[in-house]
Amino acid sequence: MSTSQESERTPGRPTAAVLVTGSELLTGQVADANGPFLARELGGLGVVVSRVVLVGDRPDDLRAALAFAAGDDLVVTSGGLGPTADDLTADLVAEFCDAPMETDPGLRDRIHARIEGWAARAGWAGAALDEATAKQARVPRGADVLEPVGTAPGLVVRAAAGTGGNGPLVVVLPGPPRELQGMWLAALASPPLAELLARAPRATSRLLRFAGLPESEIAGSLRELGGRLDLSRVEVTTCLRRSELEVDLHPLPGAEGVAGELAELLVERHRRRLISADGTGTDELLARALLAQGATVATGESCTGGLLAGRLVDRPGSSAYMAGGVVAYSNEAKTSLLGVPADMIAEHGAVSPEVARALADGARERLGADIGVGITGVAGPDGGTEAKPVGYVCLCVSTADGEVIARDPQLPGGRADVRERSVDLAVHLLLRITGVTGGDAHR
Ligand code: ATP
Ligand code: MG
Repeated sequence: MSTSQESERTPGRPTAAVLVTGSELLTGQVADANGPFLARELGGLGVVVSRVVLVGDRPDDLRAALAFAAGDDLVVTSGGLGPTADDLTADLVAEFCDAPMETDPGLRDRIHARIEGWAARAGWAGAALDEATAKQARVPRGADVLEPVGTAPGLVVRAAAGTGGNGPLVVVLPGPPRELQGMWLAALASPPLAELLARAPRATSRLLRFAGLPESEIAGSLRELGGRLDLSRVEVTTCLRRSELEVDLHPLPGAEGVAGELAELLVERHRRRLISADGTGTDELLARALLAQGATVATGESCTGGLLAGRLVDRPGSSAYMAGGVVAYSNEAKTSLLGVPADMIAEHGAVSPEVARALADGARERLGADIGVGITGVAGPDGGTEAKPVGYVCLCVSTADGEVIARDPQLPGGRADVRERSVDLAVHLLLRITGVTGGDAHR
């Protein structure tokens, strides 16, 4: 991912730091889900996210991280709101904002009411429970309380008047992603945050999506177009994700016209690799096309072991176009489940364009679908040969009308990469056979 210019301190746009806490996140055992969620949400609201900081549950680290973010307009924290001793965030934010901690009696009663039922069923009661409730009901003076989704309330804390009121607004959210996301709308509705966000110019960014286009091509185009257009007020971020190149054009206030012009020129130059010019995702485009055509898909997967079928049914309503999928991993399964002739496998090998075609046709015919997809490849790390090295994958998409698109690329990366990229490519081939994309987008 790269950005064309330093995006911090953009005049007119509030900046935010996201402060993710939790020692378990530093060990690699739990992957941070809250930083990306908050960064996406804030970015979409026109806020410049200047840093996402991840720290363990140690008071000094938290203090240092808060101090690091002191120049931002907004700090959003996640985690450390629970009842245990290592849950320190509320206290440290109170210290940072120079606001004393006070018990909110109404909140204490509401937390008590939330937990008494399950606490009684679980056989927990008494002093420890009361203490936990009391801890979670202590909030910095003057904070807006966001009602708990679990047991911990969220907080919106303004810098105390004593600090000159110049510190950032701090929004404190719980760690469990379900709770954090469940509280996000309430946080946005809280008056101090709503007021701050009202200052952010609405993002009017344009997202272009390409397949099979190297980042260097876009960089080259930007250099050239920079000679013709004043791009100093358009932040361009390019990001390679799921085998696609996303190009995000984010105009500063007043530069919307230039961003629009730039988008049109990039689309014109790279039309043959374009997937969408309005940010619509590949899976959504495919779903729409299949629904519009009333077409159904069946998959016959070997090396991807059902990942393609899984991706196709990710979207709600997929039963309208997904007929089914078969994981045919062994040669016997390919033959018995999808009718791949045993002598074809013997002659060409299980990983071959012929077998990919037979998997596609077999899945389509046996599941009564309009479109079949076959995938067979060498995912590695073992099993590669000189002729068919690790990463060699054969894909085929065939239709009941006799249309066939086949590819047998050499995909880079380890086992997980090869399987993931195979699925990406299969989805792109489906887009192509439904006529959504053309040109060279999926070569
Ligand atoms: P609790 O009341 O559950 O203690 P909390 O607000 O104190 O809530 P944490 O103790 O920081 O939250 O985290 C509780 C659990 O939530 C963690 O063990 C972890 O499984 C999950 N979690 C916390 N933060 C994140 C995160 N950033 N990404 C993904 N999962 C998280
Ligand atoms: Mg906790």
